Amino acid sequence: MATLGVYIQVPFCASKCSFCNFSSRVERSTIYRDYSGAVERELECWPRLAAMRAIPAEILLLPVDSVYMGGGTPTLLGAEHLVGIGHALRERMRWGAEVEFTIEATPGSADADLLRALLGMGVNRLSIGAQTFDDVELRAVGRLHSASDTAALVRHARQAGFCNLSLDLIAGLPYQTRESFRHSLEQAVKLRPEHVSLYLFEADEKSRLGREVVHGGDRYHAGAVPGDDFMADAYEFGCEFLAGEGYVQYEISNFASPGFESRHNIKYWRLAPYLGLGAGAHSFDGARRWSNRADVLAYLRQLDAWGPPVEVCHVLSATEQVEEFFFLGLRQACGVDLNQARERWGAACLEPWEDKIAQLSREGFLIREGDHARLPPKAYLLSNEIFQEFVATPA
Ligand code: SF4
Repeated sequence: MATLGVYIQVPFCASKCSFCNFSSRVERSTIYRDYSGAVERELECWPRLAAMRAIPAEILLLPVDSVYMGGGTPTLLGAEHLVGIGHALRERMRWGAEVEFTIEATPGSADADLLRALLGMGVNRLSIGAQTFDDVELRAVGRLHSASDTAALVRHARQAGFCNLSLDLIAGLPYQTRESFRHSLEQAVKLRPEHVSLYLFEADEKSRLGREVVHGGDRYHAGAVPGDDFMADAYEFGCEFLAGEGYVQYEISNFASPGFESRHNIKYWRLAPYLGLGAGAHSFDGARRWSNRADVLAYLRQLDAWGPPVEVCHVLSATEQVEEFFFLGLRQACGVDLNQARERWGAACLEPWEDKIAQLSREGFLIREGDHARLPPKAYLLSNEIFQEFVATPA
């Protein structure tokens, strides 16, 4: 039976990390009340607001089995506003029997009272932005917490009763060395999180550090960013290290103790429906993708006037859906089931892809076993290049 994921975007942070390429911003806390109220209003009026943009409301009939509050730093909203959103969710959505309810938390942003309030509103998974356990690296990228704050948050979360914790780590931060990266991994697994996400710093125009790496400068420590060889070695070392500690790599950047894979994130890779609420949130109902206004004030103005916050809506053709099936599904270690594609889009939907699949398999970039196709782990570092092969259907 189809189920629904709900994503709630909270685009506020206490400070902006130099490596961050998300659309989060530092705002006065006085905006949190208005923003939480706007999200609740969006929930309350969703069918009517969606109809104003010709988006069918059937998605709301699906039982919710995952909620993810991300950003940003959602815990900044505080217990009162978060609990308000939690209540609105339960009131307005078809709440499933077992909901994976995740909230992202930055060390230092959630005390024991808040953790208890989160548990009370049904949150059962914390995704903690540790990033590194080296205080020099943390300071260099503008994080406001120390490694010991991360350990304290994990301790408090356990004491409060959380049984499902995820830690984020990043390879490629300024001043990171092989030794310090290994130390971060060791410290992370010592805390025994059920889930670890391991990302690589992307030196692109979307972050201040990335821009400095590309264009030069010395404000954000770009000169101390390790090179490409380090990234590749760190990623491979991290994968091996985590495997040795019993974590199963189920996606290019994600590792979990068996049974603790992120139900919510799996929806993105399997083209399952999800509803996004909040400024800049994205949604997908199986056939169309839409996104809300990313500008917080524009989002607030729309909701204030009971207007639809949706800015862009695109109905995907079957061809586009098959392309997404490949470049999202192949992120998973299990890859894609070609039979599912035939069932969903018709027997002929894969014909244009047969030559490409055969070519990538010959070149060692894809493993095809019967009706399954997946990336070999040694190709994970080249995944972006491989996915490029799937963004346009061959003529
Ligand atoms: S706390 Fe997270 S979302 Fe906020 S700036 Fe840092 S990395 Fe980005």
